[in-house]
Amino acid sequence: MLDVLYPPQCLGCGGRLPDPDTPLCHRCAHRLERVTAAEVDERLERLPAPDALATCTVLWRFDAGGAVQRVQHRLKYGNRPRYGHALGRWMATAYRDAGGRADLILPIPLHRARYYERGYNQSTMLAEGIAQSLDVPCREDVLLRPRATRSQTHLSREDRWSNVAAAFAVEHPEAIAGRRVLLVDDVLTTGATLAAAATALTAAGAASVDALALALAGR
Ligand SMILES: [Zn+2]
Repeated sequence: MLDVLYPPQCLGCGGRLPDPDTPLCHRCAHRLERVTAAEVDERLERLPAPDALATCTVLWRFDAGGAVQRVQHRLKYGNRPRYGHALGRWMATAYRDAGGRADLILPIPLHRARYYERGYNQSTMLAEGIAQSLDVPCREDVLLRPRATRSQTHLSREDRWSNVAAAFAVEHPEAIAGRRVLLVDDVLTTGATLAAAATALTAAGAASVDALALALAGR
C-alpha cells in the first residue's frame, strides 16, 4: 500500500525502482566510485596489526552527501534492513572478483544496547545477502561484543587499539576451527574494528580471516 502512495525511488538518481528492497537502480549501482585494493592495503598498513586480515575488499567510496551515504544511512538508521540483502549481493560479486573464498561469514556485531535500540544489526543484513550469493553459511552467534567500546576520542593510537581488541569475544570456537572466515562490516575507516575482530578469531582457531565492507570512509 505504501509502495503505491510512495513508489520506491533510487537513492542515486531518484528514478522509480521495481523492487522496494533495492536502494539503487543498476545504472547508479555500477556508476558509484569503487575502491582499489591498493588503497585499502595502504589504510591497513597503518594499524598495529597490519597482517590480521588475509584480504580486505571494500566496495564503494563513502561520499559525504552522495548516494553511498544515503544508502548507508538508510540501511543503518532508516529501518530498511532489507536493503542489506541487495547491497550484500553487490559486495559478494566484488569479493568473488577479487578471488575471495570463505567457509563461514560473520557480521561485525553491535553492542547489545545498540542492537535493542535499532532492532537489527545492519552488518548482519549485509552478511545475509553475501551468504545467499556465495552459498556460504552466516552466523550471528559466534563473534560477540559483550561490552560497549569506550569512547575513542581521547585515547592514543595504541590505547585505541587495545580498547577495540578487548571488545570482542568468540563463542562456539568449533564453528571457526580451521575455517576461512569472512568478516562483514558496513563502513571501514581505520580498519581497527575489523583487524581487532580478526585477531580474536585467529586466536580462537580460525585458519584465516578476510574482510568485506560496503564503504571506505575517511582518508
Ligand atoms: Zn539510479
